[in-house]
Amino acid sequence: MSNKQTKIAIVGGGIAGSTAALLLSQTDVEITLFEKAPSLVSGPPFCHLHAGGNLYPEISDEQCLTLLKQSIDFARLYPHGVDHRPTVIALPEYCSRRTKHLLPRLQKLQAYYKALIEEDMKNKVFGDPSVYFKLYERAQIEALKDKEPVTIPKTLDEWMIPFAKETDLEKIQFPVILVQEYGLNLFRIGARLMLSLDAHPSVNLRLSTTVTQIEKEEAQWILHSNTQNRDRTENFDYLINAAGYQTGKIDDMVNVSCQRMVEFKAAYVSQWAHESTHLWPEIIFQGERGTPRGMGQFTPYPHGYFQLHGMTKNITLYEGGLVANTALSCQPKLPQNFIEKIENSWSWEETVERTEKAIEHLARFIPSFTTAKVGAKPLFGAQQIPGTDPTLRVAEVAFPRSRYARCEIVKVSSTIDMSHAILDDLIRQGLTKASVYNTMALETMQKIKEENITKQAEVLCQMREYPKALAHRCVPEISN
Ligand SMILES: Cc1cc2nc3c(=O)[nH]c(=O)nc-3n(C[C@H](O)[C@H](O)[C@H](O)COP(=O)(O)OP(=O)(O)OC[C@H]3O[C@@H](n4cnc5c(N)ncnc54)[C@H](O)[C@@H]3O)c2cc1C
Repeated sequence: MSNKQTKIAIVGGGIAGSTAALLLSQTDVEITLFEKAPSLVSGPPFCHLHAGGNLYPEISDEQCLTLLKQSIDFARLYPHGVDHRPTVIALPEYCSRRTKHLLPRLQKLQAYYKALIEEDMKNKVFGDPSVYFKLYERAQIEALKDKEPVTIPKTLDEWMIPFAKETDLEKIQFPVILVQEYGLNLFRIGARLMLSLDAHPSVNLRLSTTVTQIEKEEAQWILHSNTQNRDRTENFDYLINAAGYQTGKIDDMVNVSCQRMVEFKAAYVSQWAHESTHLWPEIIFQGERGTPRGMGQFTPYPHGYFQLHGMTKNITLYEGGLVANTALSCQPKLPQNFIEKIENSWSWEETVERTEKAIEHLARFIPSFTTAKVGAKPLFGAQQIPGTDPTLRVAEVAFPRSRYARCEIVKVSSTIDMSHAILDDLIRQGLTKASVYNTMALETMQKIKEENITKQAEVLCQMREYPKALAHRCVPEISN
């Protein structure tokens, strides 16, 4: 490698740092990606693409439209990690919000999706815009109740059959919404990134390596790192902080100020033997966050596994789980019991207790789901939220010092805009040229074989002690 090549250090191989590495590797820079875990994308989980932000009625239309655009870009970059199944949005009868309140936003999203397709046909990743969403009145759902569930649904009505058969229709409002918000498979995306970045000639992948100290000398960043008790010191021209909930620790090392929060949350993996032969849509039962009636999220995986969220304090959220930084440090301090979970493990008792509460939470609406059991340890972690608004869903990156980018995504789909903003900063600083960005090379890289991704995703599941079934798409794989 030539000495003139710009050397970039990325601290953190979560979805933010790995996506930045993937996109910047299409330029002429040399990248070193430091990740303290033995594999990439091992931080907090993600299962939902949020293509329109329909899970969050409380956020602005502007954030929803941005999430839609960013989700299209994300689905195009990571096609192997997208599960093409729609999402049902049901409002419980006790909700003061009505479907008619959600309609204006859905219509805006639909028009924007159509416009994005008119701009570029490759944006048509969520099907035809005319069916971006569909409303179902009670009579239509009642009519679907008597139909047999279909192994692989092809039409919107076929997707609705399991919902119609198993949901207690007395407990929800009508119409119910079916929207093309798809699922994401973090193990498949992690696998794709491991395969791409490991093979890339200008990416040095340093797994099981912790960055311990950072200094600045003139225009150079000096990074000290440790790999299995071996210390190393290296110089870089540009530093990307993609340390997730530990971003504040790196901010402290480079001496910048900030305002942020960190939140610990968990989702639970259940197995429902009764339901392993046909596919389900994802189902959202809306509710007020942090109350006993908080949103319930029912996310299908293959072989009868269902990932569950309940936005109450005894399921997904935790008392004391949302903390802010202080003037003394950029790193918000999570109570030790959360750090224990992240760095060591969960007790089996707590896994069972919280998973059973999650099952009960969803069984309020799907009564037969009470027979589900604990399927695996929870999917969990802490994430950062920049600023002081805990409902913020769209954020990308900040540049608080010269040659220093601080990634601060909240949703994974923001990682592409985040990476492009970093590329613009590198161009502004004269560290690379716009003309060297090679999208063709990226497209070739995207053609990794599905079977290789599946194999690598299974390895990740095994390493992290999750069932191999979580490495598979629900909806059969696209052949390439
Ligand atoms: C329960 C839950 C459910 C969620 N569901 C969704 C969802 O459905 N959709 C969605 O879009 N988002 C979801 N999120 C949010 C999403 O998980 C996060 O926004 C995203 O994973 C953050 O990615 P990141 O790369 O910024 O951070 P991380 O994934 O945390 O990556 C940071 C990495 O930096 C490494 N690191 C830190 N310090 C150092 C150091 N000093 N040296 C070396 N390495 C270091 C860490 O080991 C880590 O791997 C969810 C979050 C939670 C908690």
